[in-house]
Amino acid sequence: MKVVIIGAGVAGLGIGWRLLQAGCAVTILERAQAGGGASWAAAGMLAVTAELEDAAEPERTLALRASALWPGFAAELEAASGRSLFLNAGGALLLAGDGAELAVMQARAEGELRIVDAADARAQVPLLGDNLGGLWSPHESHVDNRALGEALTIAFLKAGGLLYPNEAAVRIEERGGRASAVLTPYGRYDADAVLVAAGAWSSLLDQIPIVPVKGEVIALMPPTSAALPGPVVWGEHVYCVPRPHLGRLLVGATVEEAGFDTSPTVAARDHLRASAEKLMPSLRGWTLSDHWAGLRPKSPDGLPLLGPTATAGLFVAGGQYRNGILFTPAIAAEMADLILGKSQVIPAFDPRRFA
Ligand SMILES: Cc1cc2nc3c(=O)[nH]c(=O)nc-3n(C[C@H](O)[C@H](O)[C@H](O)COP(=O)(O)OP(=O)(O)OC[C@H]3O[C@@H](n4cnc5c(N)ncnc54)[C@H](O)[C@@H]3O)c2cc1C
Repeated sequence: MKVVIIGAGVAGLGIGWRLLQAGCAVTILERAQAGGGASWAAAGMLAVTAELEDAAEPERTLALRASALWPGFAAELEAASGRSLFLNAGGALLLAGDGAELAVMQARAEGELRIVDAADARAQVPLLGDNLGGLWSPHESHVDNRALGEALTIAFLKAGGLLYPNEAAVRIEERGGRASAVLTPYGRYDADAVLVAAGAWSSLLDQIPIVPVKGEVIALMPPTSAALPGPVVWGEHVYCVPRPHLGRLLVGATVEEAGFDTSPTVAARDHLRASAEKLMPSLRGWTLSDHWAGLRPKSPDGLPLLGPTATAGLFVAGGQYRNGILFTPAIAAEMADLILGKSQVIPAFDPRRFA
């Protein structure tokens, strides 16, 4: 079976890798560089505690399945690519902003999730200033999403995939009501199945109802005497993610519907920095080492689109919004099975629900 995938983010690359393993011939067309897009801009959290508080049940189930797959997926991908993903299970601390938030957290505290007071919180993260305590999730993980994109690219190519960077798909051709080829300015790629995995740009190709949601992130570098926090810290409407192998702390992220604009702004930089300094006052002495923006792919109901479209042979994997890095192993496996006709679409994620 010949599959053409549009977009080399973690979704397109992960699904492509699994399809190659199943014996398909896979070509990925990428408008810019592989592993770019939101997959490059993200913070890499596998945030099953913080991001899923208000999630609908199907999304929670997908997230928990993905989370369970991550350790095995990372080991397999590291072996296949020879690259580390820096999967870090250092935990996450969610600090309460006020008594009401603390009460909500108390209601969530079960299993390994437990409430910590201010002193316990500071024992976990000595950089913290005054705080009300919050929720401690001891095994929550994060990964270097840029390393993930590179590792997936290497594994995809090693498994025999074809990848064309700087080659944008401009049209999907149909024959007899079926997607049959993808056209770019440079060529025509025949396919038995076409997968749109073009992230926030998916709507530009086939009226797939996904909108871009801009997010900005800054990176801070500590003075030589200061250590990075061990766990991920959430509070003051930001999160702080340590990257020990890079010696920096990511602080993110803004949320803004601003079209396809990805320019970093002074206002976002100052807001992120001020919020992080409220959480950890000594960050005032840290150096701003980077600042970027990316576009999250969001669907009208906030749930992913994973499966067939109304056009035979045309599939979409998109709308992962804030959790596309977390979802990677589950989407790779489940979309490959769907394209191969080995499984059924999950109704809540059926792209045809917007038809
Ligand atoms: C600031 C920020 C922080 C985030 N933090 C997290 C986090 O901590 N944890 C988490 O799980 N998720 C996070 N996310 C969300 C996550 O990054 C995305 O859900 C995920 O990366 C989407 O992957 P994707 O492969 O679908 O899209 P992308 O990574 O955007 O890839 C799509 C690719 O398609 C290409 N493309 C577009 N149009 C065409 C075309 N016509 N032809 C060819 N190629 C095309 C693009 O160039 C791009 O490379 C974050 C996102 C942002 C922006």
